[in-house]
Amino acid sequence: MKKKRFSLFLLLGLILFLSGCGHGGTVISTAELKRQIEEENFIFYSLNNDTKHLQEIVEALEDSYLPLTQKLGVDLNEKTKVYVYPNEASLKNAVNRNYKFMLGYAGDKEIHIVSLLSLRRGYTKKDFKALAIHEFVHVLVKEINAVGVPQWLDEGLAAYEAQQMYSQWTRRIKQSVANGTVPSLDDLKWQLYEVDDGYAFSYTIVEYIVAEYGYEKLIELISSPYNFNTVLGVDKVVFEENWNSFLKESYK
Ligand SMILES: [Zn+2]
Repeated sequence: MKKKRFSLFLLLGLILFLSGCGHGGTVISTAELKRQIEEENFIFYSLNNDTKHLQEIVEALEDSYLPLTQKLGVDLNEKTKVYVYPNEASLKNAVNRNYKFMLGYAGDKEIHIVSLLSLRRGYTKKDFKALAIHEFVHVLVKEINAVGVPQWLDEGLAAYEAQQMYSQWTRRIKQSVANGTVPSLDDLKWQLYEVDDGYAFSYTIVEYIVAEYGYEKLIELISSPYNFNTVLGVDKVVFEENWNSFLKESYK
């Protein structure tokens, strides 16, 4: 039984590997993607192969455009371009980044993501939509603060608005709260975003800010992300203590 299951896994793995290579693993440049759909607020580019899943994110992005731009007080003066790549290698090449784990990237009024067809095993249409919304939130953050914000604020807001609190993240947070191993704001750096922890904890910081202070303060903080005192009326140390208390309450 065990052996049978093992070979089934091997077979599945092989199929996935082969289908992952369905696009030949060929690196496709942004210029090779074709303009497929233009809507009110977004223009979508992909290979013809990937158009059957485009509609999913067209709806998701168009539907969330108004709520997100209003909530964050952003007025985009042009349509956001959405580039959907056939594989991770093309995405990394197009945006000239080589993170270990990379499904999307946001530029100036541009979103670059991998197609649903190339997403890893276990990813669903819902995850694909969330990925597109996540990257769009990064576009909006850049509009508010072009200089850049700390990663916990940028990733936290993107994950929060895309509703990406997966059950494994919740478990991980509860575990850390119980063990007293919650990372500090300064710990939330790149390496923690190579695993899910960075996203999970950042999500809760934004969740806490929204619950405690509301969106107006959140937007102010995006504009001046290092001025805790001026924006939130507490210093960074007290802010972290309060966030930890929130975690103990909300993730027990
Ligand atoms: Zn992100």
